[in-house]
Amino acid sequence: MRLNVNKLLHTPEARQDFRFELDLSDLEFGGATPVTEPVYVEGRVQNKAGVLLCDLSAHTTLHSICDRCTEEFLEEKTVDYSCILAEERQFDEDEDIVLLENDEVDLGDLARTAFILGMDTKTLCSPDCMGLCAGCGVNLNYETCRCKKQVDPRLAALAKLLENNE
Ligand SMILES: [Zn+2]
Ligand SMILES: [Zn+2]
Repeated sequence: MRLNVNKLLHTPEARQDFRFELDLSDLEFGGATPVTEPVYVEGRVQNKAGVLLCDLSAHTTLHSICDRCTEEFLEEKTVDYSCILAEERQFDEDEDIVLLENDEVDLGDLARTAFILGMDTKTLCSPDCMGLCAGCGVNLNYETCRCKKQVDPRLAALAKLLENNE
């Protein structure tokens, strides 16, 4: 989605709102493609004292796979991004500046980049996900580990004793 900002550039305090959908289903994160639903983008470009500011917010529901327990889970994701749109570099290099091409900005590209940068490097279904047991492979969020009993000989002896009393 390309936006021509020529008018905005030359009209003090002018503002243009935008809203569009983005398809990021091809994006891979850690071998998975979690962006199966459309990404809804909304924002505005405004002329603030001769400087063009662009603010956008991208939102979707991710279908993520937990790094620890490998379960799929739904995750609401919102990424906010702001930058300055300029014809050439003339500001502080610290500022996030996006250069215009023939007074145009590709908002789809901008939102896509912002969304990728906003993705978490670690994907967890919950901050205290207990993951899978390395020994028996059970999901420790739902089941108790099965391998401890076999490892501890005293417990095994006790279990045998109880069995014999039945
Ligand atoms: Zn998990
Ligand atoms: Zn186990």
